[in-house]
Amino acid sequence: MLRSDFHMHSNFSGDSKAALGHMVHGAVAKGLNTICFTDHNDPFFPYREGEEGMFDLDTDRYLESLLQTAELYRDKIDIRHGVEIGIQTHIYKELSEYIRKYPFDFVIGSSHLCLGTDPYYPAFWEDRSLKDGLTVYLEDIHQNVHNFTDYDVYGHLDYIVRYAPGKNKDFRFADYADILEDILKTIIDKGKGIEVNSAGFRQGLGAPNPCADILKLYRSLGGEILTTGSDAHKPEDIASDFTQTEALIQSCGFKYYTVFKNRQPEFIKID
Ligand SMILES: [Zn+2]
Ligand SMILES: [Zn+2]
Repeated sequence: MLRSDFHMHSNFSGDSKAALGHMVHGAVAKGLNTICFTDHNDPFFPYREGEEGMFDLDTDRYLESLLQTAELYRDKIDIRHGVEIGIQTHIYKELSEYIRKYPFDFVIGSSHLCLGTDPYYPAFWEDRSLKDGLTVYLEDIHQNVHNFTDYDVYGHLDYIVRYAPGKNKDFRFADYADILEDILKTIIDKGKGIEVNSAGFRQGLGAPNPCADILKLYRSLGGEILTTGSDAHKPEDIASDFTQTEALIQSCGFKYYTVFKNRQPEFIKID
């Protein structure tokens, strides 16, 4: 059983209403033994009117509250301190300064934007097929993994398919195999990893992010660092679809999943 959820949000993220304590209760109720909060920090996000600052993390207050929460629940569950940073090709320096300033256990680097736009907004897809959208998205990630290393795992690699019209219906792995191979090799060569994000199941993809073909390719290239996360923004979503996710990563060849402490990976056997 997967007993670690390493991608969780609380109301320190502008898109969650859940207090840290409520999330912890949810995790304990699901039988987890280790969790890592990874609230959003997306500097220079192109906000729509009225949403300004939604993904700017008050990191000092966040870490202080996390320390108190971890202490309060230490007999019940191991709580680690993470962050999910939004990587953009023009802000590597700012992100590195930020990450090096704080004592995080774990850093997810995610691409939430594509060509400076949030693919969550329908406007992004007006003149674009899934293939066009995914291609520019992966080109951005390609640039990031070659030029930025202040993260531990790359978040939800094929995330953009969640928001394409028809979602992953038109996804053909072979169309992206070359660029994905380069991205994954680079991640491995630089000692980084990826996550398997089970929210894809909740989003109706019938798969996690990234999907099985990408996970298999990563494993076949020698990829070992794989964290497991639900991307829960509320207690009921913690560890969602972890049973399916566990079976799927095993079928892709993984015998271990990974957790992090002080930015160092620890490998846990899947039994
Ligand atoms: Zn994300
Ligand atoms: Zn997230």
